[in-house]
Amino acid sequence: MEANQSIESVIILGSGPAGLSAALYSARAGLKPLVFSGMQPGGQASLTDIIENYPGFPDGISGTELGTLFQKQSERFGARIEYDTVMSVDFSTKPLRVKTYSKEYLSETVIIATGASPVLLNVQGEKELTGKGVSYCATCDGWFFKEKEVVVVGGGDSALEEANFLTRFAAKVTVVHRRDTFRAGALLQKRAHENPKITFILDSVVKAINGSDKVTSVSVENLKSGETTELKTDGVFVFIGHSPNNLPYAGQLEMDSNGYLVVDKNMLTSVDGVYACGEAADANFKQVVTSAGMGAAAAIAADRYLSHKTS
Ligand code: NAP
Repeated sequence: MEANQSIESVIILGSGPAGLSAALYSARAGLKPLVFSGMQPGGQASLTDIIENYPGFPDGISGTELGTLFQKQSERFGARIEYDTVMSVDFSTKPLRVKTYSKEYLSETVIIATGASPVLLNVQGEKELTGKGVSYCATCDGWFFKEKEVVVVGGGDSALEEANFLTRFAAKVTVVHRRDTFRAGALLQKRAHENPKITFILDSVVKAINGSDKVTSVSVENLKSGETTELKTDGVFVFIGHSPNNLPYAGQLEMDSNGYLVVDKNMLTSVDGVYACGEAADANFKQVVTSAGMGAAAAIAADRYLSHKTS
């Protein structure tokens, strides 16, 4: 520790709904939290075209707009947002240490809200053609597929919501799902089935994504018949779930078998003073509203911990 290096009260890693809600509550508690925005300021929610289930917005709100409002509200009470990303942490001693791209910081408490990233299909052609027709974000890349044909892989809420969104641009959207029933909620299923631009290939998986400098087709295997067919397409959108961004904490914090941070009812991890919230610690609900709630809870718990330390 450098002489005179200041020690923060609260450092928050991540700026999605969990991180910025933690920032709001910590700021209102007078703790002047320092927030590292991470690679995706606003988190995954900011990539969502329209969020229709966050209370208070009866007509829905765009993910970017909601993220901007979260940030504005937390800054109003003194949160400091830095556009930097955590590279490593050292939670073995106090004060806790957080190393970002640019610098090492010390803090009495850390709130982890680094969210999750899309799971890859792991098939031939996927890596090579990412950005050349393979995408994990319809809001970011949908516009490039005006009047084109795209394939959406997955059968959850993300797949059907984004398939519907993509019909604003694409002439045709084909959903390839590995089962014949969907994990997605009833409303999203109904919308997708009623959309004339969407067709379904069920009980099937994408085995390969083909093309040299851009996607030209996918190889689709029917799991019941074993038959593989080639389906021409201009793009492939993969929505098969997410995995938590918890690599920097490996070996230091307890995680479950899927890599989610284990927290107690106070959002406390296995290390005193270190809290986790949002998708980094939630394999179950993964909603903007539940992440925001976890963020608020983590901030309240961190504040109580700091108060007990000094009282
Ligand atoms: P998800 O619910 O985990 O669904 C993943 C989908 O991908 C499932 O249909 C799964 O098939 C399929 N899949 C998984 N691995 C696959 C593989 N290797 N090959 C082919 N298919 C594969 O993930 P999500 O849709 O991203 O949703 C994540 C969470 O966010 C959920 O809790 C969801 O409710 C929430 N969310 C909510 C909204 C909303 O409320 N509007 C919108 C988006 C997301 P199986 O069904 O066969 O397992």
